[in-house]
Amino acid sequence: MLTAKANGYPDKPSSTNNRQVANSSPLKQHNADIYEPRRFKRQVQTAGGSSHRFSTACDDLLAHRYPGGDVDRIKQAIQQHGVTITAIWLTHGHIDHAGGAAECRRTYDCEIIGPHPDDQFWLDDLEKTASNYGMAGAENFTPDTYLYDGDSVSLEDLEFQILHCPGHSPGSVVFYNQALSFAFVGDVVFQGSIGRTDLPQGNHQQLIDSITRKLWPLGSDIQFFPGHGPGSSFAVERENNGFVADSVTGYSD
Ligand SMILES: [Zn+2]
Ligand SMILES: [Zn+2]
Repeated sequence: MLTAKANGYPDKPSSTNNRQVANSSPLKQHNADIYEPRRFKRQVQTAGGSSHRFSTACDDLLAHRYPGGDVDRIKQAIQQHGVTITAIWLTHGHIDHAGGAAECRRTYDCEIIGPHPDDQFWLDDLEKTASNYGMAGAENFTPDTYLYDGDSVSLEDLEFQILHCPGHSPGSVVFYNQALSFAFVGDVVFQGSIGRTDLPQGNHQQLIDSITRKLWPLGSDIQFFPGHGPGSSFAVERENNGFVADSVTGYSD
């Protein structure tokens, strides 16, 4: 089981955005995450229609969203939502996203898919990072399948395209579903912020380029679900985000 110290959370929205950081303690952040699947369920239900889609997409979300955190909470949430885990999709290799993935793979007898191999150094370092942050229970591992730009992964009839979006970590990937105009963006971009780039192999300009060259061209109507905090849309962030608003980056369609 992973237990985060209140002041030891290794990965949060860019710390240069004081407003965002001041409002979210690490523990609050974790509690908020537990309730996010409901929101996603509603979104998918509205956009996708059948309850079949709804449950398969939720399976994915739980598999995708929680593996870094407290594995007991993951198991609890899975039970609470009554879903079957068929795969673990990872956006990147940071401990708060991947620390518990190996244990989940064993528990649910499923494959770990992603991230991009450039994050393998993070996955090889999970146990050491955990001890640095006073956490326990993280395990190093190698995914069953790496993801590369242009790949796609499917959950039943929901297909997600893979966009390699380095900057927050070198192997970060985004899962994009065109039919639903929806993306899981990991820690690439948040509501009102972007991923921190001060961790090993982070790169601020590369992250800005990933967002403006890979994500924005998908269309401003895309709704996204980040690795921390509430969801948003590309349109809202292009208008209001202090790091990547069009007025800051000079981006235009
Ligand atoms: Zn994170
Ligand atoms: Zn991260």
